[in-house]
Amino acid sequence: MKITSAKVFVGGPNKNYVTLKIMTSEGIYGVGDATLNNRETLPAHYLEEYLIPCLVGMDPRNSEDIWQYFYRGAYFRRGPIAMAAFGAIDMALWDIKGKIAGLPVYQLLGGKSRDGAMLYAHASGNDLEDLMDSIAYYREQGYQAVRVQCGIPGMPKGGGYAVADKGDTQNYITNFTGNGPKIETWNTDKYMRYMPDALGEIRDRFGWDMKLLHDVHHRLLPREAAQFAKEVEQHRLYWLEDPTPAEDQDALAFIRQHSTTPLAIGEVFNSIYDCNKLIQSNLIDFIRVSATYAGGITSLKRIVDLAGLHNVQTGFHGAPSHSPISMAAQAHINAWAPNFGIQEYLVLGTTECDALFPSEHKAQKGFFYVSDAPGLGVDFDEQEAGRYEFKRGYHPVARLEDGTVWNY
Ligand SMILES: [Mg+2]
Repeated sequence: MKITSAKVFVGGPNKNYVTLKIMTSEGIYGVGDATLNNRETLPAHYLEEYLIPCLVGMDPRNSEDIWQYFYRGAYFRRGPIAMAAFGAIDMALWDIKGKIAGLPVYQLLGGKSRDGAMLYAHASGNDLEDLMDSIAYYREQGYQAVRVQCGIPGMPKGGGYAVADKGDTQNYITNFTGNGPKIETWNTDKYMRYMPDALGEIRDRFGWDMKLLHDVHHRLLPREAAQFAKEVEQHRLYWLEDPTPAEDQDALAFIRQHSTTPLAIGEVFNSIYDCNKLIQSNLIDFIRVSATYAGGITSLKRIVDLAGLHNVQTGFHGAPSHSPISMAAQAHINAWAPNFGIQEYLVLGTTECDALFPSEHKAQKGFFYVSDAPGLGVDFDEQEAGRYEFKRGYHPVARLEDGTVWNY
């Protein structure tokens, strides 16, 4: 069995999904997701110009060797662009492997450890009342876990920290103003004064049964994050996400010394080496990596096993930048992983998205039910793909009130 060709498609409904399709000599094909949000064409070029020419002629069943060939075989390793490209290849190879075996990918990993995987939704509001309505909406939909973000009095509405858009579509394509990305203003003092009590009011309104998550979006300094984590301890968060920028791993140790609030980090990590110290030193409670940015199922499984050894649970990234292909790859790992925690889930299910990526995977009442179809259980409709083209988009850029650039 040989890989005969591979194609990359960029585009989608309000998203620049980067989809890889690998064809084989037996007529079986596999699909993978290389969508690197806001820099989508880069993994696409990496695949087309460097990886696909090497891939043609390889045996698609040797997914481990192919992963090692691309990872170790490159002098300059890691980084989100390369790992998203490897990730897409790896997902497609697992898809092919499952189709050859006639088994869903979760069976190749060790079978199911649970029927449904718990999801958390994103509730957001321009102010606290608005946020309460959003939380109530997701609770009515059956979600047991909700991430809550709300506008802070005295700060401009909306933004990456508290997305104003109900339904949270995060259509970054619209964030380009003609002079670069939109600018968001941030004020740490106002946030620190307001948010801990707001979390308390949410707890009072919705009770202790709801799993309450909050994302700081890298906005605090280590001392501020430690103070914040300590102050919100009484509200018993399910997790506090990205309290400080991910590259300063010592900051997590400092926060840990002052609080037992569970910490979740890692959505921008792209290798096991980014996670290693945090997991082994018990500095986090949830690892937030994704199948795309962390190099596919092969490397994600290794990270999950390392995390399991140290009682760290999974909480994979599930922003709308992930196509239904990588969400399916993660769903198979979620079905299997003994240390599964929760999965971030933003409703992808528009008619256009379902038409582009047909599948039998189901999200129902706050749980994700993985399809039993062979492989990843998600297809890619090339004819539908013809309706879309690449449109440049950006994340906003954050600045403090005096104009200083801050962490987005
Ligand atoms: Mg986040």
